[in-house]
Amino acid sequence: MEKEIIMKILVVGGGGREHTLSWKISQSPIVETIYAAPGNAGISQVAECVPIEAESVVRLCDFAEDKKIDLTVVGPEAPLADGIVDLFQKKGLTVFGPNAAAAELESSKVFAKTVMRTHGIPTASFRVFDAFEAAKEHVMERPEPMVVKADGLAAGKGVIVCETREEAVEALEEMMMKKIFGEAATQVIIEDKLEGEETSILAITDGRTILQLPTSQDHKAIFNDDKGPNTGGMGAYSPAPVVDDHLASRIESEVIVPMIHAMNREGHPFSGVLYAGLMIAPDGELKVLEFNVRFGDPETQPILMRLKSDIVPVLDAAARGELEDVSCEWDERPAVCVVMASGGYPGSYKKGLPISGLEDAVRMEDVQVFHAGTKIQDGNVVTAGGRVLGVTAIGEDISSAVKRAYEAAGMISFEGAQYRTDIAGRAIQRLNG
Ligand code: AMP
Repeated sequence: MEKEIIMKILVVGGGGREHTLSWKISQSPIVETIYAAPGNAGISQVAECVPIEAESVVRLCDFAEDKKIDLTVVGPEAPLADGIVDLFQKKGLTVFGPNAAAAELESSKVFAKTVMRTHGIPTASFRVFDAFEAAKEHVMERPEPMVVKADGLAAGKGVIVCETREEAVEALEEMMMKKIFGEAATQVIIEDKLEGEETSILAITDGRTILQLPTSQDHKAIFNDDKGPNTGGMGAYSPAPVVDDHLASRIESEVIVPMIHAMNREGHPFSGVLYAGLMIAPDGELKVLEFNVRFGDPETQPILMRLKSDIVPVLDAAARGELEDVSCEWDERPAVCVVMASGGYPGSYKKGLPISGLEDAVRMEDVQVFHAGTKIQDGNVVTAGGRVLGVTAIGEDISSAVKRAYEAAGMISFEGAQYRTDIAGRAIQRLNG
């Protein structure tokens, strides 16, 4: 790509991941205008926010045609599963992300597990059920513990780890009889519970070339020491020392490359971000827990803080099937993201609370405050979601990045704000032996 090309970009979504993408895209010398739909208060500082929800794929397509958008970058999974990429491509628009058939890797766990089994990609052994009685019978016959999973998208809540048969039957009742996840649990998976350390790897691909991103680790539980219910993610850091170079290359050769090949053979070439959630057993054996088909949130925040080169040629090349022509340059220094959430999250919480101290925090060197659930109300930035901010810092080593991120978080306040105080603690422990 020639440097003089001036592009118009549309970012779809309005969370921390999309603020991070918009921020990084805004640094590109080849970008003229960035639109974000729907965006948030932070995104509005680097992009023009358009009041179209991320799920309104037809309206987004009309907008992109109207504004002659050169590249659309899709953040969340829902529009991907709904076929935003198919629609844009039909109109001749360039869009970064998988089409609906390939996005099924995330939107249908049965699809993902079946592809893995067919193509020999390591994952927990499993069975699929669409009737409660048969599922219950299987539970009573198989060894404990086990994991019960709804097939479809269930806002990250469709996985229940069950130590006993009783718990598993209860989970089946909730999913298949009470239908707490609606259609998402028309089919359920019952699989072996895996033991070990969890990690994830993200790779950008055009279906042929693979560009593995630096390692990262997120923190799902709301409270310190991984206590309390799971959330969208309370923090992340990159790199993750649990994945050394040897393990990263094993993940590439045992999981990422075979999966890209498998999707080609299935007739659903995969393009976009392939995110593999993995369990590493104490003996080093790798197994896939899940695939996601987009950037992780909040893993994107520390990963993109470390990207030194321009992200736009990479996303554009991946969307055009020309990824072999580009590369990325990474900062060696680690980055850490601390998520500040609304009081009560992941349960119910208040919205519209004024946030103070943002200006002081963003003035700190090597700190970015990425907005997730925020909006502008009467000229002030107020809370508008469960996860509110991702305070992200880069430092000479992981300890100094952590210190800086917490120093910045300490400057910011809103009523009821909560955040974990042990983000990256395990990485520091590991590095200190
Ligand atoms: P998933 O959406 O499939 O990644 O599941 C969400 C979380 O549930 C994972 O991050 C793991 O913590 C846990 N999990 C899922 N599958 C298994 C499994 N087979 N064994 C142990 N834990 C699991």
